[in-house]
Amino acid sequence: MRHSMLQFVETDQAPPPKREVADRAQDFAEIYAGFEDAAAATQSARCSQCGVPYCQTHCPLHNHIPDWLMLAANGRLEEAYAVSSSTNPMPEICGRICPQDRLCEGACVIEQAGHGTVTIGAVEKYITDTAWEKGWVQPIKTPRERPERVAIIGAGPAGLAAAEALRRDGIQVEIYDRYDRAGGLLIYGIPGFKLEKPVVHRRIQRLEAAGVLLHLNKDIGQDITFESLRAEYDALLIATGVYKARALDLEGVTLDGVVPALDYLTASNRADLGDSVPALASGELDAQGKQVVVIGGGDTAMDCVRTAVRQGAKSVTCLYRRDRENMPGSQREVINAEEEGVQFTWLTAPAALVGAQGQVQAVRATQMSLTMPDASGRRSVSPVAGSEHEIPADFVIQALGFEPEDLPTLFNCPELAVSDWGTIKVSWRTMMTELDGVFAAGDIVRGASLVVWGVRDGLEAAKAMTEWLDKRSLAQAAE
Ligand code: FAD
Ligand code: SF4
Ligand code: SF4
Repeated sequence: MRHSMLQFVETDQAPPPKREVADRAQDFAEIYAGFEDAAAATQSARCSQCGVPYCQTHCPLHNHIPDWLMLAANGRLEEAYAVSSSTNPMPEICGRICPQDRLCEGACVIEQAGHGTVTIGAVEKYITDTAWEKGWVQPIKTPRERPERVAIIGAGPAGLAAAEALRRDGIQVEIYDRYDRAGGLLIYGIPGFKLEKPVVHRRIQRLEAAGVLLHLNKDIGQDITFESLRAEYDALLIATGVYKARALDLEGVTLDGVVPALDYLTASNRADLGDSVPALASGELDAQGKQVVVIGGGDTAMDCVRTAVRQGAKSVTCLYRRDRENMPGSQREVINAEEEGVQFTWLTAPAALVGAQGQVQAVRATQMSLTMPDASGRRSVSPVAGSEHEIPADFVIQALGFEPEDLPTLFNCPELAVSDWGTIKVSWRTMMTELDGVFAAGDIVRGASLVVWGVRDGLEAAKAMTEWLDKRSLAQAAE
């Protein structure tokens, strides 16, 4: 059925339904249902087809959003998929987990005009899920095989996006990852209730079918030297993400029951994937029946609180030192967590962890107040005198963010230049590091960021690598 566009006054915003809390808190399946065909079309038809689409400008991939919304509104889904996948190698993944309120949807003009944004992410997911169902997702085509071989270190979104683009250029691609599964944080960080694992697996299988070789359980720097990869391949891409967890520097942090967020989430994700996880069986990384306090206010903290709910925690509290407006996590995830029974204790910072017989029993916390905004507009916090109080807790999860590992040392390559924050220095024009033929992309360049930025970096790095290989073969031919 055809729909006229610009229906944002007549048609209210109606995102796909969420599962009831009592039901979704029992498992790790995604909480959002897909759109019905008719609803996807009517919601797409709300778009006002802006001449200057701010949604597109604010999407890191500059997706052609108004075009695929118009096609979806008119039931031309196969074409919508073709347009959507021309800029994004994993649209159904971004549609599920991008913080749209901070990206495309946050910039939608009808949201600014008070009508509620077009549900861009949900339509993007719907288009590509339909394409998978209908068999429109074609194998990756490599019109001309080239002899050059490239190694990618890291099979997260940045590495996977680069692999697809390089294979399209006919380049031979091999990916090395220290884990036993490819996918990076898509598999072992982000829980199934936001992104079910088969959605990631089918993307990886498509890459393998296109000839991408995966070398899993290979830690570069430990199992294989960086130097040997440089010698073996024509070019390298470092896409290793950031894995050094920031830890609390507080009394009591070594007590039993105080755990790092990624260990906790990885254990839960492994169980969701069917692995046997001794640290869950022993209770060490299991929140069941416990009074849980999660410290932090980003995406990782949100994933921890909601995982604890699903594990059957007695209570779950999120402690964050700023307020709701100044937290880094997505507001959509805060609302989901609140619905699931998580208590948010804003403007509260931990002062110490208190325990007995080596086991944590409480978080000693201090009330904070917001200061005036700084030059960047962000407000800092300062402690309120005499406000210390204890919050009972027998399981404390530290979710304070991640920093890069010391790659020059891990790779035994001091010439690999890094910034003051430990991220790899690249030229943003070429994505090349200061080592000839070695490129980098994703969180290891930006610091902890988002999947969609990793995808963009991966695509740009792949383009730059192909250009670099082209120039090199021209120069070799001229010799
Ligand atoms: P990664 O996904 O971290 O992948 C890097 C890969 O490199 C890993 O597989 C790792 O095993 C491998 N590796 C590292 N070192 C080596 C080595 N020496 N040798 C071999 N392999 C190595 N972003 C969103 O957009 N939406 C979200 O909802 C969201 N939720 C998140 C939830 C959590 C808990 C976390 C931690 C992050 C979340 N993010 C989210 C951020 C997002 O996951 C990252 O920005 C993104 O995955 C970065 O992609 P990447 O490819 O650079 O790195
Ligand atoms: Fe929005 Fe992310 Fe899709 Fe871009 S990739 S349109 S930011 S959901
Ligand atoms: Fe459509 Fe909103 Fe984008 Fe305008 S900003 S083109 S209304 S989705």
